Amino acid sequence: MTWFSRPKRYTKLGRTQPPEAEPPKKKDIPEGVMTKCPSCGQLLYTKNLEENNNSVCYLCDYHFRIDARRRLALLVDAGSFVETDAGLVSADPLRFLDYARKVEATRRKTGLADAVICGVGEIRGRRAVVSVSDFNFMGGSMGSVVGEKVTRALEHALEAKLPAVSVSAGGGGARMHEGMLSLMQMAKTSAAAGRLKEAGIPFISIFTDPTMGGVAASYASLGDVLIAEPGAMIGFAGPRVIEQTIHRRLPEGFQRAEFLLEHGMLDMICHRSELKDTVAELLDLLWYARAALAAARAEAAKLRPRNDDVIHLPKPAAGG
Ligand SMILES: [Zn+2]
Repeated sequence: MTWFSRPKRYTKLGRTQPPEAEPPKKKDIPEGVMTKCPSCGQLLYTKNLEENNNSVCYLCDYHFRIDARRRLALLVDAGSFVETDAGLVSADPLRFLDYARKVEATRRKTGLADAVICGVGEIRGRRAVVSVSDFNFMGGSMGSVVGEKVTRALEHALEAKLPAVSVSAGGGGARMHEGMLSLMQMAKTSAAAGRLKEAGIPFISIFTDPTMGGVAASYASLGDVLIAEPGAMIGFAGPRVIEQTIHRRLPEGFQRAEFLLEHGMLDMICHRSELKDTVAELLDLLWYARAALAAARAEAAKLRPRNDDVIHLPKPAAGG
């Protein structure tokens, strides 16, 4: 029993009373733990998304952009990739406003020298020259370094007689900070892809979201097989620029991978989880199975009987 009791104080909430009470504090979620899917709007557990689902939304299949290193890890066999031309860095020939500082800051942030990683690796045991661009490095745009590295990779494929695979994510197209030097990379990389074609060495090009401008309009579109990830945006000028130029509304899904496949601009759309197997199969079909067949035929030819052992058969009728 209590001897004294205090009268309870009630707070009357009048209509005019300003809201004094703070809203109940939500438990703060540390940054990076959850990722919002831009397609279905659901909150996804980042660790689960990245480690178990290759950064593809497990509810709606939206393919998130991934950096070049993670892309390489998904595409090439562990412990097989050797990088080439890693130290190549671009000059600042135009002394473009803020360019040098921007590149330096991006370099520090991404740990990349420029927007592409090139090298030789194995895809399910099939050796190939691989180049992978990174959207995080100035939008994956092609300056003189990207152009030079991709060209050298294609030339290396030609010399070593290895198939080439490129993964592009060059949303910015040609890098405007390097002016004409960037534009020249379109011709240079295209010429290298052309030489590879003449030599009959396969080149598989994979488009990821987004591949636009000078990257889409040069080497990326010159592969023997053009593959895109679902929903990837691929094109030259952006849709807004086109609409303003032609004064018309663009059709639904314009410049998306599915639209381009329907209109014959792509050979296939491949889910990220099936990409490595698909590329390995294509490398077999276009190169390794062919080489194996030729070697088997050469072996079989060695077993051909001597002429005097051959019995003479009647000539078959024409067409037989
Ligand atoms: Zn989603």
